[in-house]
Amino acid sequence: MATVLITGCSSGFGKLAALHFARKGDTVYASMRNTSKGKELEEARDAESLKIELLELDVTDDASVSAAISKVIGEAGQIDVLVNNAGIGAHGPIEETDDDEAKEIFETNFFGVLRVIRAALPHMREKKAGTIANVSSLAGRVGPPFDGIYAASKFALEAMSEALSYEVHPFGIRVLLVEPGGFETNIGDTRRVPRRYNEGSPYAELDQRFTQALTRLPTGGERGDAQLVAEKIYDAVNDKEPKLRYLVGQDAEMIDGLRRQLDDEQFEKTIRQALDFWD
Ligand code: NAP
Repeated sequence: MATVLITGCSSGFGKLAALHFARKGDTVYASMRNTSKGKELEEARDAESLKIELLELDVTDDASVSAAISKVIGEAGQIDVLVNNAGIGAHGPIEETDDDEAKEIFETNFFGVLRVIRAALPHMREKKAGTIANVSSLAGRVGPPFDGIYAASKFALEAMSEALSYEVHPFGIRVLLVEPGGFETNIGDTRRVPRRYNEGSPYAELDQRFTQALTRLPTGGERGDAQLVAEKIYDAVNDKEPKLRYLVGQDAEMIDGLRRQLDDEQFEKTIRQALDFWD
């Protein structure tokens, strides 16, 4: 059974993944910025005799990352699986996003992952084993309007993960990406919106129309059950035929499928037609 470290376990995919891995018998270090948010995990641990340890870890803080990794190595001796799940959402027009706001998104979604990977890799290399699962997004494959900065952070994560998979393969380490479409978690409520963006914005009406248009997709713009993503992370990590990318959700499968079949112009036309979004 594996020792698994997961970031961002206070809610959403991270919390569900911590439970899912633990229910499969793994020892899970469920990390989060504020461990007082881990009560549900502690209750499940006690009720079901699961091996779940809460661990403080803020991915934007070098000292916090290094202390967390040292604690896991000190106690378990190794990290078999690292799931980089912590992330923040962002919604708003690119023109109205200031540098500090864009940097905040990258600081968590890209540099946060990089920081944790850099701290874990020496231990994985020493053991000549390990799996790094990075939670990206469909927005790491296509750039949706009004999610541009978020998508940019996930595109960066995709590029880094792809390159890293070549670099660490000789050391027996695997890298994979899980790419969910839209799922019901806290991310919609906590997503960052640019401070300059308000109802008077020249983009406000277009944004509303785009959000409305999404409901015309065959999936109806519905958000899926987050448990599916937790299970996909586990299945991807334990896949007997390892791949680099794992899409999750009907919307992700459909849109990425189109993206792979069509050239840039055909893809754009198809999406505009599907959404009746011609501006
Ligand atoms: P969520 O419920 O908001 O969970 C996000 C988690 O990340 C929370 O535990 C949050 O902790 C944590 N986090 C944020 N900043 C952190 C930091 N600096 N250090 C450590 N933890 C931090 O949203 P979610 O949907 O489960 O998101 C998980 C991942 O899935 C993210 O990478 C997100 O980009 C990705 N994703 C989500 C969707 C979706 O539709 N839900 C789709 C594609 C990809 P706090 O409680 O402390 O804020």
